[in-house]
Amino acid sequence: MHAGSCELKVALLDVDAFYVSVELLRRPELCGKPVVVSGTGPRAVVTTASYEARRFGVGSAIPASRARRLCPEAIFLPPDFPTYRAISKTLMEVLKAHVERVEVVSLDEAYLDLEGFISPRAAMRRVLAEIQRETGLTCSVGIGPNKLVAKVASDAEKPRGFVTLTREQACARFASAPPRLLPGIGPKTAETLAKLGLETIAALAAASPELLRSRFGPTQSLEIARRARFEHGGAVTPVREVVSESRERTFDIDVADAQVLREELARMASELCTSLARHRRSGRTIGIKVRLDDFSTATRARTIAEPTRDVETVTSVALRLLREYDPPRPVRLLGVRVGGFGSAGGGAVAGRPERAEALQDDPQLALPL
Ligand SMILES: [Mg+2]
Repeated sequence: MHAGSCELKVALLDVDAFYVSVELLRRPELCGKPVVVSGTGPRAVVTTASYEARRFGVGSAIPASRARRLCPEAIFLPPDFPTYRAISKTLMEVLKAHVERVEVVSLDEAYLDLEGFISPRAAMRRVLAEIQRETGLTCSVGIGPNKLVAKVASDAEKPRGFVTLTREQACARFASAPPRLLPGIGPKTAETLAKLGLETIAALAAASPELLRSRFGPTQSLEIARRARFEHGGAVTPVREVVSESRERTFDIDVADAQVLREELARMASELCTSLARHRRSGRTIGIKVRLDDFSTATRARTIAEPTRDVETVTSVALRLLREYDPPRPVRLLGVRVGGFGSAGGGAVAGRPERAEALQDDPQLALPL
């Protein structure tokens, strides 16, 4: 049975085994073999495994050493992020050429707003054909009335999945699946739910609100129950690309002491680099911002050869800029910025699973979707 077109408002498109698929395009002799993309160090983890390797239990985020034991004949390849980013760019260009509102989730995954399409399914078939033509990649697609249904549907029949579901159909189809299938319900929540005897999505959907509230509090309990009913109100939001990140501080009392300014700048640079590392971002442009006690504001920036998030590099460049500017009056506000993301070396970093990126790239949602 097909869902009615008016119910099909959102699609989630996800490239099948993205990193591995890119590698197979340039090494077709490896097609049909268990192939794993992973780092090489002692603590490396699998970023992506081919479907042949997944049959041996090799999946994203498991240690590469364990993957070798599970599947000794697997071919291990190092990740090549510059190539993955270039292909991702082509992929997203195709999506944006067909669909007005595209929410990029990760290098190989995006939500598409299908409202306004007379035939959303036909539109998605056209998109898939063009992606295959332009990149050689295959994708899985889920289509539904909201992002939650689209996301779960896209995962249901990989690879080359094409699943359209109304909300009611999603409830029926995943009734006996564990709550962990739902984005935002992680291992800890699932464990708590299991202790309450709620081990399926249907059981969770039917659970008493009081029971859930007693364990999860008023806000989270409502959200969990809504997800179990496949309700989700989030719109497809084209995310503005993040190009820089900064830290700044307005002093309680204007500061004239150069030593205090240097210490504060170094502290903020360190905090900024910690955050850049957490979001796996690097940039080539390091800048400072100085607002004086008369509210005049000066910015200074320097672009270096290689993207960085190294605290020593950022701090030393920022301090040099401050020394060169040499504030002529007491300072009201001081800031440091790293920008020019997206150049080589920015974005994803070796040894990280594709999946983790998708979840961490959406800081607005407490329960990621
Ligand atoms: Mg994928």
